[in-house]
Amino acid sequence: MTDFDAIIVGAGFGGMGAGMQLDRTGMTDWVILDREEDLGGTWHVNRYPGLAVDIASVTYSYSFEPNPHWSRLFAPGAELKRYAEHVADKYDLRRRMRLDHTVEGARWDEDERHWVVSLRDRAPLTAQFLVTATGFLSQPRLPDIEGVESFAGTTVHTADWPEGLDLAGRRTAIIGTGATAVQLIPEVAKRAASLVVFQRTPIWLTPKIDGPVPRPVRSLFARVPVAQRVARRANNTMLDTLMVGVLHFRQASIGNQVAKALARAQLRAQVRDRETRRKLTPHYDFGCKRPTFSNTYLPTFNRDDVTLETGTIARIEPDAVVTEDGTRHEIDTLVLATGFSLWETNFPPFEVLGREGQSLAKTWREGRWGSYQGVSVPGFPNLFSLVSPYAYTSLSFFNTIESQMIHVDRVLSELRRRQATTFEVTGEAHDRFTSEAERRLGDSVFLNGDCASSRSYYFAPDGTPALLRPTSTGSAFRAQSTFPLDDYRYSR
Ligand code: NAP
Repeated sequence: MTDFDAIIVGAGFGGMGAGMQLDRTGMTDWVILDREEDLGGTWHVNRYPGLAVDIASVTYSYSFEPNPHWSRLFAPGAELKRYAEHVADKYDLRRRMRLDHTVEGARWDEDERHWVVSLRDRAPLTAQFLVTATGFLSQPRLPDIEGVESFAGTTVHTADWPEGLDLAGRRTAIIGTGATAVQLIPEVAKRAASLVVFQRTPIWLTPKIDGPVPRPVRSLFARVPVAQRVARRANNTMLDTLMVGVLHFRQASIGNQVAKALARAQLRAQVRDRETRRKLTPHYDFGCKRPTFSNTYLPTFNRDDVTLETGTIARIEPDAVVTEDGTRHEIDTLVLATGFSLWETNFPPFEVLGREGQSLAKTWREGRWGSYQGVSVPGFPNLFSLVSPYAYTSLSFFNTIESQMIHVDRVLSELRRRQATTFEVTGEAHDRFTSEAERRLGDSVFLNGDCASSRSYYFAPDGTPALLRPTSTGSAFRAQSTFPLDDYRYSR
């Protein structure tokens, strides 16, 4: 007898999607555990100024729960949080969430044939099935810069933005120029007395086609949901088209060249100083690293009170950031826009031990970065690992989750049909899927473009670009709907 039929770890859109799917398949005795004090995952944790979705909002929602009320094409973060709350209420998820519950590990008990999930400062819980839905960007990375702990002013990571932090009059530094910093920098520049941006690797960015969604469009979406479905489909097609240049770089590098040209034109139009433009221009191919878009980031560097520093940081002192050439930037607020640790601590985010004590982290780090359909791994029975290599589909987290839910539904339905209690993917199926993903990536920008200087989180530490599922949205959904159910072993 277990505490629950299923334990889901993560109360973000992935975990909530899994909960709703389990309900649909008739399994209602599940719990969602999350270390945070509120639901929403990314959209609860990230609250920095300027936060907004970077996939058009028509696509960034569950297809079965469209939101006709998005205020902008790219909705601000607070709307995403409200949407998560709406879904949790409408689908009766809240009462099955245990927040402020930090999972420290999960172990498959072969004798009992169930998962034992250990929690910080709490008794362990057991369940027949385990779903890990902890997100891809959930472990904030603190930079290993000498003296960072000695800084005497205010230090803030973007994933831990303090409520009401007032930057007025503050001499501020931001380390990092990823997608988060691109959203944050224009906002900080408006508020702070001065801003120094420490850039190690420049980011490719293109103009953002954004704006308020006009009221007539919103009411059309509310009255005629098919209209929003058409918009969603069109946006998915656009995302797939963007991915052609990434996944089929060998055949279609022209797409990347055009994107680069567009990005360079924007730089010329928006940044006055030639030297600053040079510093902001990446030296790797478009698509090696997640590009982003903004209309306000580049002009920020025209401001007299904003400095772009590209010198390597030597150390941080109690009142300054010092670069290797000895320049001291005196500041009182240090913002770490240094992103998230994916491969080192997020795959998986806590110790997962399968049959015979096999560690999932070791399986990936010391063996091969792989999965079956971005969902399962041999040796780990009754586990749906939603944060797996090759899981992330078509730049859209919701396409990722929803295609994974088809997979979950089919496996659990087959398990029930066979009156079995345990499923486990076969090694042969896992290797076949992983090898096919590797083969497909042979055409990608990751292996054919110049990515050497990109420092991209699309690459695992051994150089395998194992994050993205290298297929279109349509093929991912088709594959999840049609994979042979015999790719799993089912037992009682
Ligand atoms: P990121 O892309 O990993 O960027 C981290 C930045 O910090 C990089 O510029 C990195 O430089 C720099 N950095 C890290 N350690 C450093 C060190 N020791 N010294 C100097 N610089 C250092 O992280 P992010 O900007 O938080 O974005 C992560 C992802 O979140 C994005 O790619 C995007 O997918 C997602 N995101 C989504 C939204 C949304 O609306 N959905 C919004 C923001 C972000 P290097 O490049 O040289 O390593």
